[in-house]
Amino acid sequence: MPARLMDGTAFAAKLRERVKDGVDGLRRDHDLVPGLAVVLVGDNPASRVYVKNKAARTVEAGMRSFEHRLPANASEESLMALIAGLNADPAVHGILVQLPLPPQIQESAVLNAVAPAKDVDGFHPINVGLLATGKPGLVPCTPLACLMLAKEALGTLEGLDAVVIGRSNIVGKPVAQLLLTENCTVTVAHSKTRDLPAVCRRADLLIAAVGRPEMVKADWIKPGATVIDVGINRVDAAEAGKTRLVGDVDTLACASIAGAITPVPGGVGPMTIACLLVNTLRAACAGLGTQSPV
Ligand code: NAD
Repeated sequence: MPARLMDGTAFAAKLRERVKDGVDGLRRDHDLVPGLAVVLVGDNPASRVYVKNKAARTVEAGMRSFEHRLPANASEESLMALIAGLNADPAVHGILVQLPLPPQIQESAVLNAVAPAKDVDGFHPINVGLLATGKPGLVPCTPLACLMLAKEALGTLEGLDAVVIGRSNIVGKPVAQLLLTENCTVTVAHSKTRDLPAVCRRADLLIAAVGRPEMVKADWIKPGATVIDVGINRVDAAEAGKTRLVGDVDTLACASIAGAITPVPGGVGPMTIACLLVNTLRAACAGLGTQSPV
């Protein structure tokens, strides 16, 4: 039987509605409007599109969006001064510095300067440590999106064999830690893993975050497994001169074996921005000492 295709676009739309309800509640009960500040340094065209989309979704969810642009030759000091101002601004509950940054700016220094309570990307070492120790904190958006999709497909994840391919700080490691917190038995595979297909065949839940087009093949999949594809890879299309996006999983082939699978595009991608809004709402609620409804 073919796998159920998990519709990340539809799930993200529902999640954004739930965030909007939460925002309406904060405005009604606490006279508070959550605010998300996005900082863009330089004019990388892809980053400009991401920032525009994030701002539009933020406003749609009833939040305030603050956009800050610095020129490509901006100094680290000027960016640090901007972040210090946002850290101190009570109207700003979440701060996101769009990556990559130009070479004259040290990325880690900038990410460490964001107040942990406003770190909606979940990249600050304090939030990384909270996640590693299974304590509540702000969790990176793409890993949070993977967790939500996995729970949507499977309900409880307790006791499942989960395999994460990829060990990056922004996807693979935090996904693995979230799954451990959910009581999965987690294997983290990477570029030096021996016999990757055999490792993947053990997985009830397989999450691919590699960056290699359609690397995961049908005979790597345990029958009935849930497969979440984080990869975004641009490849040549059949039509000359055109390109298309594919994931790390050979979706069409794997769909005949898996129980549920996310497409690319339309799977994890749209969920990532929705999770940014979830984190901004959570940050605003934490500032009030209340539990976020989402
Ligand atoms: P990365 O390059 O930082 O990490 C890739 C990981 O894959 C590494 O840990 C490496 O060990 C592993 N790897 C590389 N080749 C391998 C191989 N042959 N076999 C097994 N493991 C291998 O990448 P990243 O930032 O973690 O991103 C991974 C993918 O996810 C990329 O395609 C990226 O575009 C995509 N991504 C998507 C979203 C989203 O919102 N959907 C967000 C972030 C990243």
